[in-house]
Amino acid sequence: MDLLKDRVAIITGGAAGIGMATVGRFLSEGAIVSAWDIDQALGNELLKQFQSYGDNLEFKALDVTDEQAVTETVADIVTRYGRLDILINNAGITRDATLVKMESSAFDQVINVNLKAVYLCGQAAARVMIEQGSGVIINASSVVGLYGNFGQTNYVASKAGVIGMTQVWARELGRKGIRVNAVAPGFIATEMVKKMPEKVIEMMSGKAPLQRLGEPAEVAAVYAFLASDEASFVHGTTISVDGGLIA
Ligand code: NAP
Repeated sequence: MDLLKDRVAIITGGAAGIGMATVGRFLSEGAIVSAWDIDQALGNELLKQFQSYGDNLEFKALDVTDEQAVTETVADIVTRYGRLDILINNAGITRDATLVKMESSAFDQVINVNLKAVYLCGQAAARVMIEQGSGVIINASSVVGLYGNFGQTNYVASKAGVIGMTQVWARELGRKGIRVNAVAPGFIATEMVKKMPEKVIEMMSGKAPLQRLGEPAEVAAVYAFLASDEASFVHGTTISVDGGLIA
């Protein structure tokens, strides 16, 4: 399949979970992928897993909250490849607690990674994409950003914020040839969800009419569609990938 042939893509949080599945899917669709993640060891495993794609995959050990690193790495990609076609703003964390128990440091951490870093990466990418007159930005939200969730004040605030930011960028960047959308996964079988108590996971998968957790590849498929020309008139929206979850 060649849905993304020769497109240059950054995928943040690309060494685990949904990000890793998206790296694999984008490579299989012919993309040239720069996978960013905080953990070099995970990055080495990623490179090993997808070594058959050769130079089409590189890994950058990078903290997406580090503005200088983000700006420099985007500039370096543009120097080497001549352009940047796709940004998947996927990196994200949870630090759950009920409102009364939440530490403000946990609130700040989650907002920094899930919201501020989406802004930092989005801004760096948009500056390049405006110059070239084309590009696609896709931001990771969550169903909980649409409906709320017990014990996730910080996470829900960040994911609702991502939807708002996506709508702003759609208005600002659409006229410059850049499409912007968000994806709102439901409960997907990754490390992030495995951290939740078994009872909560069972309850959440039971709430989805499809009666199961989603697989990372099922979210990656939607990223691939949205990033491709197949989605050429899809703009400013949030697509749920949640098995029909009823809040
Ligand atoms: P995951 O398995 O935890 O993978 C996220 C990756 O991002 C990890 O490798 C993580 O590294 C990395 N990361 C964290 N902070 C970073 C930073 N500051 N800079 C660079 N990389 C960083 O998560 P996932 O479940 O695949 O989720 C991916 C995205 O989808 C997230 O934005 C998440 O909020 C969203 N989402 C997930 C679900 C779900 O059910 N899984 C549902 C809705 C939305 P560490 O492991 O070292 O933190």
